[in-house]
Amino acid sequence: MLIVVSGPGGVGKGTIAELLVEVHDNLWLSKSWTTRSRRDEELEDSYLFVDREAFEQAIEEGEFLEWAEFHGNLYGTPWPSPPEGHDVLLEIDVQGAQSVNKQGLECLMVFVDAPTIEDQALRLRGRGDSEEEVQRRIKEGERERSDATDLGAIFVVNDDLDKAVAEISTIISSYRDREEKG
Ligand code: 5GP
Repeated sequence: MLIVVSGPGGVGKGTIAELLVEVHDNLWLSKSWTTRSRRDEELEDSYLFVDREAFEQAIEEGEFLEWAEFHGNLYGTPWPSPPEGHDVLLEIDVQGAQSVNKQGLECLMVFVDAPTIEDQALRLRGRGDSEEEVQRRIKEGERERSDATDLGAIFVVNDDLDKAVAEISTIISSYRDREEKG
């Protein structure tokens, strides 16, 4: 089973994805590749950080389930190889979700949103994004919301982290039940 968590920059979807795999022990978080440089506060294994040449070679070799260019950097999900009995969780941008959808892969799509635009801007500034980047991500968010609606994603507002995680957990559990019943 494939679960896609998407949403605009600065809504906390990365933190949510990490908490979800702690709550559900049969959920496996895919590690993406990126050509973006590592942020100071970021763990070394939060992505596989590679240069563009290595990324482009991996595209040619068919290594990715999906990949997308986002603000000049490449991001990609390698074909997942979860441990036996685990469902796969992807935390990707909306273009990636569209690409998963185009491939006809059955999945649960969740779109995490910030309570307000002001709140999203505050979070982006708080993690050190430049004002130009903040404005770009906010503008992008409008398109992402509309694309996520077209994809039939379930919207979850992250106004309280624990509440958002609990809400998505319930959505995952009921999706699993439905899948199991066929
Ligand atoms: P950031 O640079 O803030 O870590 O991520 C920028 C955007 O890229 C976020 O929306 C994040 O969800 C998305 N992203 C991270 N990994 C992947 C991936 O493997 N594929 C796609 N399509 N987007 C990704």
